[in-house]
Amino acid sequence: MGQLYLNKVRKHFGHFEVIKGVTLDIKDGEFVVFVGPSGCGKSTLLRMIAGLDDTTDGDIVIDGEKVNALPPVKRGIAMVFQSYALYPHMSVFENIAFPLRVEKLDEARIKEKVEGVAKILQLDQRLQQRPGLLSGGQRQRVAIGRAIVREPKIFLFDEPLSNLDAALRADMRIELTKLHRDLKATMIYVTHDQIEAMTMADRIVVLSGGDISQVGAPLELYHKPENVFVAGFIGNPKMNFVPVTATAVSDEGVTIRYEDKTMTVPVEGRADVVGKPLTLGIRPEHVELSGGDFNLTVVPSVIERLGVTTIAYASLGPDQPFCAVLPGSVGLQAEQPMAACFKASDCHLFDEAGLALER
Ligand code: ATP
Repeated sequence: MGQLYLNKVRKHFGHFEVIKGVTLDIKDGEFVVFVGPSGCGKSTLLRMIAGLDDTTDGDIVIDGEKVNALPPVKRGIAMVFQSYALYPHMSVFENIAFPLRVEKLDEARIKEKVEGVAKILQLDQRLQQRPGLLSGGQRQRVAIGRAIVREPKIFLFDEPLSNLDAALRADMRIELTKLHRDLKATMIYVTHDQIEAMTMADRIVVLSGGDISQVGAPLELYHKPENVFVAGFIGNPKMNFVPVTATAVSDEGVTIRYEDKTMTVPVEGRADVVGKPLTLGIRPEHVELSGGDFNLTVVPSVIERLGVTTIAYASLGPDQPFCAVLPGSVGLQAEQPMAACFKASDCHLFDEAGLALER
């Protein structure tokens, strides 16, 4: 079992409240990813779960047992860091065996367990080498091996792939997904990388300023962000935001105006928004050069041609970037006006408090 329950967990560093009452239920076997901007408290929350930082207030409960007062080794967790923290003078075998030696397992059992883990991680040909001879990806596999060998209830990963190059990161992502499937263990993973979060997570927890902004399956966050923060954070390039005014509500949705154009967006027709400023959100990948229900004229300053797609970067005004992800075949020129068209059904609307009007 590896069930984790955080109940109104808080953390202060001096007068500074870094974690502001986080409540979260993580099921046994779930792969949960914490994302959020730098400084939002992802690593602190992970370190509190591990027992490396104490908890100012609230409960951390693993499999029904409150573990706040337990030291890290007694919590049944294993943590893998960005810096692999391997012992350079020890072989791969000894690095993986280290936690078992601390537990004083007998030699035959250690050999059996280390060889089993090395096989899973394709390190069986490397067991006698020192870490210095290994690639970054292999070193990280050794660090993961050292975590697996303890058979923890919960694995914690703090940006484990961020020291690797893009190609190796993609390989390791696939290996971690397979590992999760094979071990069926609970995994909590902190990352800056959207692709890692979207591809590996059963659920993503978006943190902002020490608080949970939204929790959901990756595509739920993509399609139904509950607020403007999550809308802008999930998705790459990020969602475009256009300042509009609500002019009417009806059964069809909310009618908005931007400059002299109007459109009815099929969202919850909340009467209190009429006459108020709203933020319209449209993802760059939903912008086309023709068709749709609404069109703007923008002047891209930069065009990036990536082969399969062309990305046009424009702006609607100061601090109002507008980006379009278009097919690779379009013939656009920088500094030449282009039409930016989109469907009402692809639009999101956010009220003055930044909360989404339900789609
Ligand atoms: P990043 O993505 O940059 O790693 P993060 O989301 O993991 O950031 P944390 O490292 O958890 O953020 O830090 C959250 C906040 O707590 C930051 O403002 C940080 O400066 C502060 N902080 C972290 N550790 C300490 C500490 N030991 N003493 C004081 N402040 C700390």
